[in-house]
This record gives sequence, structure tokens and C-alpha cells, in this order.
Amino acid sequence: MPDPDDNPVSFDDDERERMERLLDDTEYDTELGVEMAKDAQRVAAGELSEAEFYRQYHDDVLEEFGEDDRELTGLLDDAGGDGFGDRLSGLADDEGLSRREVLKKGGAAAVALGLFASADAENAAAAQDDEGEGTRYGMTINLNNCDGCLACVVACNEEHNTSAGANWMYVFTYEDEDQDDENFLVRPCQHCTDSPCTKVCPVGARHTREQDGLVLTDYDICIGCRYCEVSCPYGVNYFQWGEPDVPESEIDDDHQIDERGRWVGSRPPQGVMGKCTFCVDRQDGQMGEEKVGTTACEEACAMDAIHFGDMNDPESAPNQHLREYRESQENDQSFPNRKDHTVSTFKLMEERGTDPNVHYIGNEPSPHAEQVDGPVTYEDAGIVDNRKEEVLDNGAMANTEGEEA
Ligand code: SF4
Ligand code: SF4
Ligand code: SF4
Repeated sequence: MPDPDDNPVSFDDDERERMERLLDDTEYDTELGVEMAKDAQRVAAGELSEAEFYRQYHDDVLEEFGEDDRELTGLLDDAGGDGFGDRLSGLADDEGLSRREVLKKGGAAAVALGLFASADAENAAAAQDDEGEGTRYGMTINLNNCDGCLACVVACNEEHNTSAGANWMYVFTYEDEDQDDENFLVRPCQHCTDSPCTKVCPVGARHTREQDGLVLTDYDICIGCRYCEVSCPYGVNYFQWGEPDVPESEIDDDHQIDERGRWVGSRPPQGVMGKCTFCVDRQDGQMGEEKVGTTACEEACAMDAIHFGDMNDPESAPNQHLREYRESQENDQSFPNRKDHTVSTFKLMEERGTDPNVHYIGNEPSPHAEQVDGPVTYEDAGIVDNRKEEVLDNGAMANTEGEEA
């Protein structure tokens, strides 16, 4: 990964070109998408306030999309004065947003600005108090245990009926200059707590589910602008360009709609963005109570590398695994499959401020890491891989070529 520097969010010419190429394929404003992506990452990195981000792009987003339903949960924490509250009130009145929607955008600070009545104030305060409580799904992935078999990739593709090339789970095999062995990076969506992708979605299709922190796409309202794709530092989004390989008629309805009635599961329809959902249909009990708290990739991994569960529960599988690992370090005792030189835990690109809910044990790829064929190639596993070139060359997954399926 790149060394943290003073300006963690900077796109070089190649990256900007890549983003422009992806966005040029859509009917929406390319320049707006690139600028918003950059600034959404700056918000996550603490370089720009959400209020400023909102102000800066509100008129342009309205002009381009006819609405501005971006999820900016901390919007009013730093809203300040200068009539910003009036603009939010105006949103509620003029843009057809419900008070709840505006409240969600603004939270308790909207109340502080006197936008809502006291009943709403209580709700907002309760919502703020709840922060950090409840369920927050995440993973601990022990890279030391991974043997590069790609079973997780295959299982994910099969369960979610993704089209060829849309590998929501991706395993990079790479060589690094200061490590002797073959290394693996197992990469689902990081389900970031401070996700740039939700900040840029003009229609609110990409959103964070309140009850468990899942970052999902509402397939019914996604317009395929690809702004989320270029804003994500991890390259985990896959645009469904053509007709999906698996037709709707062959997908079990139970795999698609979550308990709020929003279509967020299985592969997306044509023209819509897809990515790892943390197996939302399992978490909602739609595949049976016994599957709640499990994922297809975790289930398929014979090496005990993937541990899924509630990061807010100290006894959950991911927290237990992390704890056991750390204790083994402290006690200097052997831990299953531990390699002597790999004693780190990390989150991917932590300097970006996205606060991922995926924790890793093992080596973090250095800026010199180079992707190589694994012990099982994608071809061997019968998987189409469009992602191979230059993936880790600059140490950033943001440099991956955007995928289309
Ligand atoms: S890793 Fe997932 S949640 Fe984080 S920015 Fe990318 S798509 Fe959004
Ligand atoms: S592609 Fe869909 S989910 Fe992504 S930003 Fe555009 S509308 Fe939102
Ligand atoms: S959590 Fe589910 S959707 Fe995400 S990579 Fe694993 S199997 Fe795929």
C-alpha cells in the first residue's frame, strides 16, 4: 500500500484518465463525477467537511440529476451558519424530500439549527445515541491462512448469480520484494463506515443500512452513473453493462428483496452497479435462520481465513479471531499457519479515513507488490478475470481497471 503522506487523496494523470474513461461511457457529467469522487475521498480523509462537500456540489447535482439525495450522515456536524440550515429547509420544501430524509441527512444538528420540532429532535438525539451500538457487520480475514484456492470467489459468484467478470470477491496473488513467499490479498467490499461511494450517489441508491452497517445498492433506483465506482478507493464495484448472464426468471425471489422492500440482493439488472453485499439475503434470514451471520465466501473457505460477524460484539467470530491472534503475538506462541514475518493486523488503505469494516491479519502489500498467477489461476477455476493488469503496481487498488460485466 502507498505510504501515508500529507495528501492521501491525490489522483495522478493515469488515475484521472481511467476515471474519465469509465464515466465517459455513461450519459452523465464526467467532470462532475471525477471532482465529486476526489472530494468525497477528501471528506473521508478529514480534509473537507461534509457540509462544504454538500454545498459545493448541490446545485450541479440538481442540474445534472434533477435531485440531490446523497447520503451525508455527518452533514450538519460542522454545518456552521451562513444560511446552510435555510438550504436544508428549502430542500424539504422544494425538492420533495420528507422531513425524515432531511433529518437523516442532517441528524441532530438539523435540530440544533432549529429546522424541526422537538419530537424530531428526540428521534435525532436517539439516533445519535445509538451510534456505535447495534449490529455492524464486518470480517476478519486471516491472509496467513489463505492458500489461494479461489473457492471464495467461486462460491460468491454462484450464490449471487454474478455475470462473467464481476467477481465481487477477488483474491490477488502477489509477490513483494521483502517477502519470500507468495502472498494473497482477499478483497470483498470493505463496507466502509465512512464510505465515499455513498457520499457521491446522487439518487441515494448506494446507501448504508442503518440496522447493520451494510453498504448496499438499491437496484430499483440506481441510474448507472458510475460515480460510486470511481469514488471507491478499493475497486470493488462492477457495472452491469450488458444483459446479466443469469436472467431474472432463474433467480429465486427470496434472494433479492430485503426487509425494507428494497431490491439489494443477488446480481444487479442491466445498467446498474453491483458489488459484494455481505450476503444481505443471508443476514435478513431469507435463506433460513441458520444462515444469518454467515457468508458464502466464509462457508466455502476450507482454510478458516474468513471470519464474518458483528464487529460490535466482542464475542463474534471476527473479534474472537483477532483477539486470539493478538494474544498469540503477545505470548509469542504459535498461531495456526502463522508465518514468522507476518505479525501485523491492518485495514486496507487506512490512511484514506474510510474506516473499513474488514480487518486483516497478515502482510499488507507494499507499493512494490506485483500481481502474479496464483496456485489456482482464475482460468483454472473457470472464472473470467478482467482485473489482472497492473493491479498492485502502484500499491493502490484504485488503479484497477474498472470492470464491466
Ligand atoms: S469498499 Fe465498498 S463501502 Fe467502501 S467505498 Fe468501496 S464500495 Fe463503498
Ligand atoms: S451507479 Fe447507481 S449506485 Fe452508483 S452512484 Fe450512480 S446511481 Fe448511485
Ligand atoms: S460476503 Fe457474500 S457477497 Fe461479499 S464476497 Fe463474500 S460471498 Fe460475496
